[in-house]
Amino acid sequence: MNKQSIFSFTLEELRNYLVEHGFAKFAADQVYDWIYRKFVFVPTEWSNCSKKMCVYLGENLDFSLPKIVWNGLSEDGTRKFLVAMQDGNSVETVAIASKSRLTLCVSSQVGCAIGCTFCHTATQGLTRSLTTGEVVGQFLSVSQWLKENTDGDSLTNIVYMGQGEPLNNFENMKQATLLFLEPKGIGLGQRRITLSTSGLVPQIEKLAEFPPVNIAISLHAAHDHVRSELMPINKIYDLKRLFKAIKTIPLKSYRRITYEYLLIDELNNNLEDIDALCKLINQKESKINLIPFNEYPGSDFKRPRKDNIIWFNNELNRRGFTSTIRASKGSDILAACGQLKTHVEKDKTNLW
Ligand code: SAH
Ligand code: SF4
Repeated sequence: MNKQSIFSFTLEELRNYLVEHGFAKFAADQVYDWIYRKFVFVPTEWSNCSKKMCVYLGENLDFSLPKIVWNGLSEDGTRKFLVAMQDGNSVETVAIASKSRLTLCVSSQVGCAIGCTFCHTATQGLTRSLTTGEVVGQFLSVSQWLKENTDGDSLTNIVYMGQGEPLNNFENMKQATLLFLEPKGIGLGQRRITLSTSGLVPQIEKLAEFPPVNIAISLHAAHDHVRSELMPINKIYDLKRLFKAIKTIPLKSYRRITYEYLLIDELNNNLEDIDALCKLINQKESKINLIPFNEYPGSDFKRPRKDNIIWFNNELNRRGFTSTIRASKGSDILAACGQLKTHVEKDKTNLW
């Protein structure tokens, strides 16, 4: 039988597990401290814990973490990691530095089933969803790497924007989020975590069951025919259904929904698109994140010119919308969604 990953227990679940197996309840807090604060993953090194418990946990739970098999630094400080799971599948996870933040962009699945026409991950199809331990494990492996290789850098934010559709892995992403939030563990605040979705209506309608984190919707177009061309999911859940579902998301008064909007030349970047976008979204409760399309070898789409990108953003601001342009991070190491993995795998012979 497969052992359960130690990196999938909430603190409360670990307490119950320890008590059930004859150990002290308070030891769960110590275990949490070693794993999530000190990043020490070998139980025999937990000096203040009972030896008997450490041996028991080491024998009965799975302590394996995603293994960093490659990492590369971009000129702008973005560091990309390729991590391999126990079964040999690999995903990417990216640490993006900006101002006082160090944000980890984690993957939720190996590949993706949604099939967006602009996305490199889509070309891989879906292999499988990641387990809770593998999602939390990306954070832990990178944290340990930072501890060993930097001057005390630590991760401050998490976005679910790597490979995969997080809402197609609802239960595991929910559990991973509970672990990221646990005050005695990683302890990130709710506003430091962002879930990005392509717009799966039934799961959006279930978001009340998810811990209340920031929600980003990959919108990319304000017309159904354009959005359907970019995202086949729009043929099932069109804009009308999507926005009906978005209205059901429980939002605290100060919270907003982020709309990600890819800017693609001659597709969704003109005045008429701005008019449609402004009609579609609620000005007060929305933020728009403009993402200039990241071109990759073989991609069908083009990034608009810089002056068009700036104009698009200014025009939204002029109409009273909160909108920003996402700086393209790590493009020299192919940091956009799904690009590195394929690149590295193609060049495997050169890298290993
Ligand atoms: N599946 C989820 C989360 C992962 S994708 C989603 O689609 O929201 C994270 C973001 O990267 C999405 O907004 C996606 O549209 C964007 N993205 C994918 N390919 C891109 C590319 N080539 N250039 C720029 N952004 C891209
Ligand atoms: Fe999947 Fe997101 Fe890529 Fe679309 S953009 S294929 S949903 S990872």
